[in-house]
Amino acid sequence: MPPSAQDVREHEQNQVQRASFETMLKGECDADTQTIFDEYFSHFVVPNDEGKCFKCGTVQAGLMAALIGGFVYDLQHGEGHCSKCHWPARANHYFKDRNGKELGSMQMILQYHPDFVTKTARTSD
Ligand SMILES: [Zn+2]
Repeated sequence: MPPSAQDVREHEQNQVQRASFETMLKGECDADTQTIFDEYFSHFVVPNDEGKCFKCGTVQAGLMAALIGGFVYDLQHGEGHCSKCHWPARANHYFKDRNGKELGSMQMILQYHPDFVTKTARTSD
């Protein structure tokens, strides 16, 4: 029996690794802070070394992206999408602890994990 569309989609989601403290940051911090980062990063796909879109392979980050425009900002601050397949991503990240105290921020294009995406950006965006 051929796999159903649902099976294919689930398989695809399982193939995409979620980001985490471990895969994103170097160094150490207390367990509480690590949990905050783990939760935050789990919404995103681990970026590959070439900075390519995990969906279509268009380069999102780095000099090539700057030259060919692989990532397009949306109107909402820090949000954007792949210029080719429109998969959504966030470029500006702000981290806060449990009490709302700022831990820091970072600028890096991270694509949303398929588990959190119901539709891609409109082609008119
Ligand atoms: Zn793409």
